[in-house]
Formats: sequence, C-alpha cells, structure tokens
Amino acid sequence: MAFVIAAPCIADYSCVEACPVDCISPGPDDPGFDKAEQLFIDPQNCIDCGVCVDVCPVDAVYEADLLPPKWAHYEQINAQYFEELS
Ligand code: SF4
Ligand code: SF4
Repeated sequence: MAFVIAAPCIADYSCVEACPVDCISPGPDDPGFDKAEQLFIDPQNCIDCGVCVDVCPVDAVYEADLLPPKWAHYEQINAQYFEELS
C-alpha cells in the first residue's frame, strides 16, 4: 500500500527533498520538472514511511486506503504517471 498525492498539491517539492527512496516525481532531474503542477508517488517504490505527509504544507498526501472519496481516483493517477514513463 503506497501513499498517494491528491489534488491539493502545489508542487513545492518539499516531499521530493524529504523522501528517503526518491520515489516522488518529477524531481529536479526529470523532464517537466519546472512545469509540473502536481507531483506523483511511485507505488512500486514507496516504502510507506510517511515522511512526505509530515512535510507537505497543504495536506495533499494520503495513504491510499485513507484518500477522501472525492480524490480516490488519484491512486490511479499517481500509478499511471509512472506506467507512462516506463
Ligand atoms: S511515504 Fe515515504 S517512501 Fe513513500 S513517497 Fe512518502 S516519503 Fe517517499
Ligand atoms: S510537499 Fe505536498 S504540496 Fe509539496 S510537492 Fe509534495 S505533495 Fe505537493
């Protein structure tokens, strides 16, 4: 079970800098970094440490099981971002 970034994300990159396994994209070396309006968590690599939840200034990160119903589809949106990269 991975964590998921939902609609409130303002792409301030606090979580990118804090994530211990570098599974939040796009990061500074990725295409689209400077134009990103929201970031995504790779469900294959997230280790469920919860650090990103603590550093997010807008409460945009949720455990997948605890996503508010209106943002439940963000689990698929996060996963799809990485499927399209591969
Ligand atoms: S829960 Fe931990 S491993 Fe997963 S995205 Fe957040 S900081 Fe990274
Ligand atoms: S810390 Fe929160 S607002 Fe900032 S990029 Fe991560 S999820 Fe988005």
